[in-house]
Amino acid sequence: MAMFEDIPVDVGVIYEGERIRKHQMYVELGGPNVESKFEVVKNKSMDEVEDEKITVIGPDLKDLEPGDSYPYGIWIDVAGKEVEEELEGVIERRVHEFCNFIEGFMHLNQRYDIWLRLSKKSFEKGLNTFELIGKVLHKLFKSDLPFIEKIQTTFVTDPEKVKEMMGEAMRIYDVRDAKARGLKDEDVKEFYGCTLCQSFAPTHCCVITPQRYANCGAISWFDGRAAARVDPKGPIFKIERGECLDAFKGEWSGGNQAVKENTMGEITRVQLYTAFNYPHTSCGCFEGIAFYIPEVDGMGIVHRGFGERTVNGLPFSTMADSTAGGRQVDGFHGISIEYMRSPKFLQVDGGWNRIVWMPAIIKERVKDFIPKEVVDKIATENDAKTIDELKVFLEKTEHPVVERWKAVPAEVAPEVEEEVVAAPPEISVPEVPIAAGGYMIILKEPKIYAKKVIVRKVEK
Ligand code: SF4
Repeated sequence: MAMFEDIPVDVGVIYEGERIRKHQMYVELGGPNVESKFEVVKNKSMDEVEDEKITVIGPDLKDLEPGDSYPYGIWIDVAGKEVEEELEGVIERRVHEFCNFIEGFMHLNQRYDIWLRLSKKSFEKGLNTFELIGKVLHKLFKSDLPFIEKIQTTFVTDPEKVKEMMGEAMRIYDVRDAKARGLKDEDVKEFYGCTLCQSFAPTHCCVITPQRYANCGAISWFDGRAAARVDPKGPIFKIERGECLDAFKGEWSGGNQAVKENTMGEITRVQLYTAFNYPHTSCGCFEGIAFYIPEVDGMGIVHRGFGERTVNGLPFSTMADSTAGGRQVDGFHGISIEYMRSPKFLQVDGGWNRIVWMPAIIKERVKDFIPKEVVDKIATENDAKTIDELKVFLEKTEHPVVERWKAVPAEVAPEVEEEVVAAPPEISVPEVPIAAGGYMIILKEPKIYAKKVIVRKVEK
């Protein structure tokens, strides 16, 4: 792009979706190996912002030790006649997209979960200072969101300063999230859709309603409304709610129509308040996953920051692979933390009466929204680390799911040591997206052939 002639690497939409593996990375900013990380956009008055000013607090890219992970924060102040507080969350979400436009600069997730990598290749080409990243962001923000008249950015790598500013960022997120509470789906005529994540999950479309916050936890119904107003042709758009097809399940004719139009007809029905049958699709930047645990007929929850294995023996990353991609996967459901505070949270599946396990730190964050009669019956990693321990805990606390065990006799899985399945050695996968050379290639229902398939019992 001509507007980036002074930048030593390429900048363009074709780099969205580019992954930088560990062996290709020069440094990592944020991510699972560091605790402190954040990104924030703040609305300021015109005289509080020095246009296109870039500040770096802490070591710059060229001063960081190659191969390491660093605490990292980015604080962006914006000003303009049309810029209002309701737009902060939406502008902030575009940081993800615009960073990914930079060749060899990968950005994942949002808010306090951000994870960035700079590639060795781009560093060697000269992308060695935050000044250059800031310049690109300023240009992209101003050209794509012209209502931003002034913008200034602070990059922070000083560990103490990142920690301190992250505290402030967390307070800003909390205030934003609390604002959308109380409003009901039935009180409004419009929902909002978002397709920003389609570069990573081609059939994903968020349906954002007052009672279902976006999967990334970064966009509320109010944010959606503000974004659609100032940038009606942008990735966040208005959905006419339409006819209510099932209020309890959260199915609306307008929601179905919007996902159908925005997923090339791939997804035709969405029921907002369930993890089964026609659940909301899951992209890849969900804050957490609600996962079905068949052994206890209950649901577990895990968030991105949980570093241990969950009660079913799988870490977040493994379950995220099964959940992501813009699909509707029965029993693996991408969610935001704020959605857990919704009175309609998974209400079709039993709501909180069906949740049996979750990390202690998340339980603490949403505790006030869990019904009192069940809050102490939901296990955390401190109560149960295995399914057997979980069963004991649930029986002891008389969790409501125990009643379900009486209703349906538990199926006993046959003992399988090792079995070689002769034929047909073929596995069907619903969809495999491949990004290459600026094109997104989607293989629909590809079949994988193998000479033989071995089914092996996994030891605990
Ligand atoms: S998770 Fe949904 S709302 Fe958030 S950026 Fe992605 S598509 Fe948009």
